[in-house]
Amino acid sequence: MFRLRRRVYCDNNATTMVSPAVRKRVNRVLARAYGNPSSLYKVARDSAAILSDARRTVAAAIGAQAPEIVFTGGASEANNAILKAAAEAFFPAKKRIVSTPIEHASVLKTLEYLRDKGVQVDYLPVDRMGRVAAGDVERMVGDDTFLLCCMLANNETGVIQDVRRMADIAHARGALVMSDCVQALGKIPVDVRALDVDYASFSAHKIHGPKGVGALYVREGRPFSPLIHGGHQESGMRAGTEGLHNIDGFAAACEAAAGLLARARGLEALRHRFVEGLRRIKPDIAVNTPPDGALPNTASVTFPGTSNAVFMAMLDFHGVAVSAGSACNTGEDRPSHVLSAIGLSDEEARQTIRFSFSTATGDKDIRYLLRVIGDCLSGRTLPVTAISPAQVDENLLMDERTFIVDVRHWYDRKMLKGLPNSHEFPLFTIQRHLGSIPRDRNIIVSCQTGYDGPIVAYYLRSKGYRNVGFIMTGVLGWKLAKPDLYRRLGGTNIHPMGDRS
Ligand code: PLP
Repeated sequence: MFRLRRRVYCDNNATTMVSPAVRKRVNRVLARAYGNPSSLYKVARDSAAILSDARRTVAAAIGAQAPEIVFTGGASEANNAILKAAAEAFFPAKKRIVSTPIEHASVLKTLEYLRDKGVQVDYLPVDRMGRVAAGDVERMVGDDTFLLCCMLANNETGVIQDVRRMADIAHARGALVMSDCVQALGKIPVDVRALDVDYASFSAHKIHGPKGVGALYVREGRPFSPLIHGGHQESGMRAGTEGLHNIDGFAAACEAAAGLLARARGLEALRHRFVEGLRRIKPDIAVNTPPDGALPNTASVTFPGTSNAVFMAMLDFHGVAVSAGSACNTGEDRPSHVLSAIGLSDEEARQTIRFSFSTATGDKDIRYLLRVIGDCLSGRTLPVTAISPAQVDENLLMDERTFIVDVRHWYDRKMLKGLPNSHEFPLFTIQRHLGSIPRDRNIIVSCQTGYDGPIVAYYLRSKGYRNVGFIMTGVLGWKLAKPDLYRRLGGTNIHPMGDRS
C-alpha cells in the first residue's frame, strides 16, 4: 500500500522536540566538558563555569537569583522535593496543605504520601473550566496551613490560575506557596517574584530542552532540605554529579524561551482557527479550554459519540500525534482526574482529546489536521473493526480463522488473564514480530483496557493486514462482559513471549 503521510505532532504538553540549538549545546558539553564540576583542575573548572552560567540563565528566565535554583532530574523530582521539604520544615507544628484536584500526578501522589504520614491535605474546588476561585482560597487556607500548592497552568486543559492573588491570600495567613510552573514556561510570562511564590518547579523537556532535567526554585530564606542525600552538589540541596550536558541544554532552551513567548499570540490565533474549524466539522463539540486565561497552545476537546482511544488510533494512523488525557494500562481504566474534577462524566472524559501545539505548528498542519479529523468522524478512514466485548464468545475465540494478538505488557498480564490462544506480542515489540502474524487470518487485537488495541489494529492495517479488529474495552471489558468465559478459558496462551519489554 502506498500512502503519502504527513507527520503532525500535537502533543507538546507531553513533551517537545529538542531544538537544534539545544542539541548543539548538549553535544558540545558531551564532547568537551567531561570534567566533574566539583573537582579543582582546569577541565573541571570549565565544567563548573558552564554549570554556573546555566544556573544564571535558568534563574534569569524565571525572574529568580542564581542561588535560588536547584537543578533536578525533572519536575517530578522537583515537586516531590518541595512538598516533602515543606512538610519536614513545618509539620507537625502546622498540619495542613491546601492544593487543587487538577495538579500533576507528581504532586497528587506526593500529597497522598504526606497524608499517610499525618499531614491534612485539602483540595480547593474548581469550576467547569478548572479555575480556582479566590474566595475558596480565603475560606480554606487557615492559620494551620503551612503550604498552598497550585499549578500556574494545567497540562490537560491549559487553564491558567491567578497564582499571584492566591499567594497574597496565603501569605496573609502565614502559609507559604508552591507553584508547578512546568507548562507555563515558554508559553506565558513566568516571574517567580511577580507571582510571589516561595517554591516553583520547572522541566526542560516542555520547552524544547532535553528530558531528565528540571529545576526547583526556593526563594531565599525559605526552608528546604534535600530529597537526595550524598555529595555536596547543588549547595548540598541535591546530591549527585550534575548531568552537565542536560543542564546546559536546559539553559539553552531557556535562552530561547523569550522567542517562544513572542510567538504566543500567533499560536493562540492558530488554536482559535483550529477550534473554529472543529466546530464547523462537528458543531456539538465541547471545548474544555477557556477562550481566555489559558495556555495559547492547548485545546482540550470533547467529541460526543466518539471513543478517544479509537480516535487517537485513527489520527496516529494518519501521522497525527495527540493525547487522550486518560490513564490507561493500569488495569483500572480510570478517566483523567483533571477532566473528572472539572465535571466531565467518565463517558465524556473518554470522548476527550488534548491537542497541544508548538510554535513549529503551522496553518498547513492545522488544515491537514482538520481534514483528517473530518475524514475520521465521517467514517472515510481506513476501517478496522471495533469488537464489543460481548461479541467475544466461544465461537469467535475458537474459530480457526481467528488469530488473537495480545499486546499487553508483562505487568498487565499479571493483573488479568488474557483471551484463550492469544499470541503475546507486547505493544512495543509488534514491529519485530510482523513475520509471525499471519496475513490470511482474522486478526483480533486485545489489550488491557481498550487504549493500545486500536493503535495496534490501525498499525497492522497500515501494514497491509486486511481483516483486523480490536476489542473495545480490552481484556478488562471482556472479563466484565463474559465472566464465565473468562474464568473457564482465560489465560491459556499458546505463544508466551516471556518478553519484559
Ligand atoms: N508538572 C506538570 C504540570 C507536567 O505537565 C509534567 C510533565 O508531564 C510534570 C510536572 C513532570 O515533569 P517531568 O517529566 O520533568 O518529571
